[in-house]
Amino acid sequence: MLVKEEKILQTYFGYETFRPGQVATIEHILQLKNTLAVMPTGGGKSLCYQIPGLSMDGTAIIISPLISLMKDQVDALNSYGIAATYINSSLTAGEQQTRLRDISSGRYKFVYVAPERFESGSFVNLVRKIRIALVAFDEAHCISQWGHDFRPSYRSIVPNLKKLNNIPVFVALTATATEEVINDIKELLHIEHVVNTGFERDNLSFHIVKGKDKTSYIRSFLQEHPNESGIIYTATRKQADTLHEQLTRRGTNVAKYHAGMSEIERKQAQAAFIHDESSIMIATNAFGMGIDKSNVRFVIHYAMPMNIESYYQEAGRAGRDGEHSDCILLFSQQDVQLQKFLIEQSLMDDAAKQNEYHKLQEMINYCHTHSCLSSFILEYFDDKVTKMTCGRCSNCVELKEKDDITEEAQMILSCVKRMGERFGVGMTAKVLKGSRDKKLKEFRLDQLTTYGIMSAYTEKELTERIHFLIAERLLATEEGKFPTLKLNQNSVDVLKGKRPVEMFTLTIPTSDEADYQ
Ligand code: ADP
Repeated sequence: MLVKEEKILQTYFGYETFRPGQVATIEHILQLKNTLAVMPTGGGKSLCYQIPGLSMDGTAIIISPLISLMKDQVDALNSYGIAATYINSSLTAGEQQTRLRDISSGRYKFVYVAPERFESGSFVNLVRKIRIALVAFDEAHCISQWGHDFRPSYRSIVPNLKKLNNIPVFVALTATATEEVINDIKELLHIEHVVNTGFERDNLSFHIVKGKDKTSYIRSFLQEHPNESGIIYTATRKQADTLHEQLTRRGTNVAKYHAGMSEIERKQAQAAFIHDESSIMIATNAFGMGIDKSNVRFVIHYAMPMNIESYYQEAGRAGRDGEHSDCILLFSQQDVQLQKFLIEQSLMDDAAKQNEYHKLQEMINYCHTHSCLSSFILEYFDDKVTKMTCGRCSNCVELKEKDDITEEAQMILSCVKRMGERFGVGMTAKVLKGSRDKKLKEFRLDQLTTYGIMSAYTEKELTERIHFLIAERLLATEEGKFPTLKLNQNSVDVLKGKRPVEMFTLTIPTSDEADYQ
């Protein structure tokens, strides 16, 4: 099987054997079956369409969302002596014309284009006239409105492409796809086979850090990891600017990348990082898609991102070379507020906002769970979880001693019930504490029998426990701008004493008090 293709792998790319998932994907494509490949970052998705592209007659068209990504891919193919080119808005009209002419003469094996290109009738006509090997959608999750990076143009061109009857096979590739997104891609592109290698990245260790001064944490981390390459993601440009200034002032050589910088500045920063002139990159989520830097040893999230898809994709830029790498998320409650604000400010309709709130809640749950962090992520993606503890993440390593907190959980849950399931985490903690908050009196919550029943705890401890119950699905939240707590079947089981609740001993943070207010 795949004798010719294995030869191509060895002679062009210099690799001995295929990786998991590559063989199945390539075989389906060669049988002209529309195929979706879901593989983790660094899994080797490009070869899945490049090898059939070389093996089949005609030109392979690759639709890719990012200009920088196209150039890198084309440069890499050219360096292997393969005829490849790209067409996008970075080229002059003259350059575009020359390339289009060369494409129509069948000179290239690979042509990378942005989706918008198919909105032009003349390009569609050109594609109609030449011999096509395959059409591949890179970063295919961008096709789906359920995906975290939806590009409408990715979706709108599909009907036009389907009308062309000279495309033998469609290929879709992504590293991040929930069941919903996979189904959406399948339906849209008439996918016949899905090759899903799972998402697990054995070489990554996930960590949640709470209640620390973030900048000091980063400073000491960098001191302890000198000469290592890493990315620090911030939630806003302003955070990136501030952190960059703080670290630069101390003499650390750090690059910076965000959409507020000029294109030249961004290019320079990216090049400095890729070529290891600056080992650290401080960036917003504008940085990274398609960046193939293999030796990134850590990715630190200065602030929690909007959802687990984004988090896993960004964190997954660590360790593409398979070496052990760390993914650290610095959590603070303010970041939750920031993300809610960003959702509210967005132009999405109410249904889309609701969907974003739901995903945000899962991200928050990730920060509060006591389960294995790798397993939590894999379960989120509906992946087959092979083991419940990775033995590497901060929960597996640091959380050792368990406490039975069934009684506390029952008090919290019955308080939620008595409050009519109409309030959020903060107010519930206040009632349990017996706070003298004015609002609480206005709602007459001080009249409840559960008022003050956990006065021995601090509000912060109570908040942490409520978040823990949500993360462990023992309590539900109605997602939205002001999420309210609701009981679910698990809560009822806990209240009836049918289900014990255990929590690992928490070391409640002493600094960053404001976080839990
Ligand atoms: P991604 O799935 O993130 O798109 P890439 O296609 O960029 O991953 O591949 C990641 C790295 O793995 C690249 O450097 C690529 O050359 C390498 N690679 C891909 N397939 C193989 C293979 N069969 N053997 C060895 N290295 C491979």
